[in-house]
Amino acid sequence: MRLLFTPLMKKRLTRRVHTMLRASLRHFPELHGRTITIGYTRTNLGSAVLPRHTKSEPKLTVRLNARKLTYNTIGHELTHLVQGLSLFERPDRLSTAANKFPGGEKQCDIWTLARSSLFCDDAPSYLKLLRVVRENWPRYAKSVRALCIMAIEKRKTHRFYIRWLESQIKQLARKPLGKSGALEQMQLPFDD
Ligand SMILES: [Zn+2]
Repeated sequence: MRLLFTPLMKKRLTRRVHTMLRASLRHFPELHGRTITIGYTRTNLGSAVLPRHTKSEPKLTVRLNARKLTYNTIGHELTHLVQGLSLFERPDRLSTAANKFPGGEKQCDIWTLARSSLFCDDAPSYLKLLRVVRENWPRYAKSVRALCIMAIEKRKTHRFYIRWLESQIKQLARKPLGKSGALEQMQLPFDD
C-alpha cells in the first residue's frame, strides 16, 4: 500500500500520525495494494473522498486532523473508503465482507468499531449514545463494540438492526458498571 501525503498534511505529519495510520491500515485488507492520499482538515472529523471514474482506478483520499487524531477517526474514514469501493468496484474484486457493506454514517461507525478494538479509543460520532456513555467512553467501549458485532450479525435477519443496537446501548447505560466495566458483566463471547 502506498500512502501519499498532500503538502498541507506533510507539514503536519508527525511520527505519531504515521504510526497510527500504519497500525490502522493493517486492519483494512480491502485497501491493500492501493494508493491512498492523506490530506489535512481542520475539522475534528476526518473525511473520505472517492471520486468516481468509470475506467480508471478510484482515487482514495482521506482527510484528517493531524493534531487531534484518534484511531476511531482514522478507522471511520478508512471504512468510508471501503464503503465507497463496494459501490464502485466490480463485485468479484471485493471480498464477500466488503460486498455486503452498507453505506451511511452510522453504518460506518458500527463497522469501524466492530473491525478492531484498536478503533475503540474514542466514542463514535454518529451512533446515538447517551451522555453517560459518551462521557465515560473507556468504560463502555468494549461492550459497545461487542454490541456492534452482534448488530452486524442481526442485520442478516433484521432490517432495523441500527435501532436495535442503539436501544441495546441505551440499556447498557442503565446497568450498573462493575469495577472492570460492563463487558465482563454481560459476558459476551467476543474478543479482538
Ligand atoms: Zn463519516
